[in-house]
Amino acid sequence: MRIVAAKDLTVPLEGAVANAVVSFADHTVSLVALVSDQTRGGRPVIGFGFNSIGRFGQSGILRERLFPRLLTTDPDSLLAPGGAGFDPEAVAAAVMRNEKPGGHGDRAGAVAAVELAVWDLNAKLADEPACRTIARRFGRGPALTDVPVYAAGGYYYPDDSTARLGDELRGYAALGFDAFKIKIGGASLDTDLSRIDAALAVAGDDAALAVDANGRFSEDEALRYAEALEGYQLRWYEEPGDPLDFALNRSITSAYRGAVATGENLFSAVDARNLVRYGGIRPGLDVLQMDPGLSYGVTEYARTLDELEQAGFFRSQCFPHGGHLINLHVVAGLGLGGCEAYPGVFQPFGGFAPQCRIGGGRVTVPDAPGFGLELKPELAPFLDALGEN
Ligand code: MG
Repeated sequence: MRIVAAKDLTVPLEGAVANAVVSFADHTVSLVALVSDQTRGGRPVIGFGFNSIGRFGQSGILRERLFPRLLTTDPDSLLAPGGAGFDPEAVAAAVMRNEKPGGHGDRAGAVAAVELAVWDLNAKLADEPACRTIARRFGRGPALTDVPVYAAGGYYYPDDSTARLGDELRGYAALGFDAFKIKIGGASLDTDLSRIDAALAVAGDDAALAVDANGRFSEDEALRYAEALEGYQLRWYEEPGDPLDFALNRSITSAYRGAVATGENLFSAVDARNLVRYGGIRPGLDVLQMDPGLSYGVTEYARTLDELEQAGFFRSQCFPHGGHLINLHVVAGLGLGGCEAYPGVFQPFGGFAPQCRIGGGRVTVPDAPGFGLELKPELAPFLDALGEN
């Protein structure tokens, strides 16, 4: 059994929205296909992965470095023991050949797209949803069939932003969501506090609303917001300052009694170790948002979980960034706290499949083989195009 071809397609992200720092309008995603020599129904079994959302496609790294290394590695060394398909850890190690440690950057997303495609491939070979493959590989009990979910959005609009925010959240509530996250830091503190009040009018409960500054604030600004937010008991205060400024994070967690969320811009288990050592994060309270699709895939994510659990954190504190089918399976397979969703935006990757039911604060995991990306009507044409060319 071997991988006979590796291909990628750079897909534009539909995201005519902005957070406090970036516009998503020109973002792209790398969709990767690993074609195996196995067939089902006369067609080759193909594993698909992508490097989450919120950053950019990595065609150069994939084509110039990762794919050639993968395809020139001894195929037998890429197989999992006991005939359990391919070994994601071995594939990730093969594509990282001759790469220096540290300085993860865009490489971490490119490797993730390949590693995640291996999970999709393995699950399809076993004819099971990927969450089950992931749960088995890491010695977990049965994968969850539904997981907690919240609607992330609450973006800034060019005009009438606060009124449109309420409409946006009411739309999510109508879809079955009962917890929400909105952006802060793209306006004055006073404006942001009225945005929070407008959002709470829909959420109904402080604990059902999180706020996300996307790493925008200086330490002083982050502390000023923290003081103002103390008056609420919000679900969490996300990325107050630069995600790599661990001392800043520690200063916020020392001053702010509520939960602080961070981690979506940390790309390795060692980054997580440093966050634990120096970032002042609190077991049982803060929220960790490392995203496998941005950080070398599920194998590295499991190492990150080890780092966190050894330091006394719980996997129920983990809510990976990236509201899409891949992370839905990762959350279900590894028994994490839950996942986010970006209803209606970031197509064709954002959101789940029509088969996924949302209600009571949870979303069901589809039982199609693999990550079930083929179930998503917006994504299916890109999978077909990449699989066939
Ligand atoms: Mg965020």
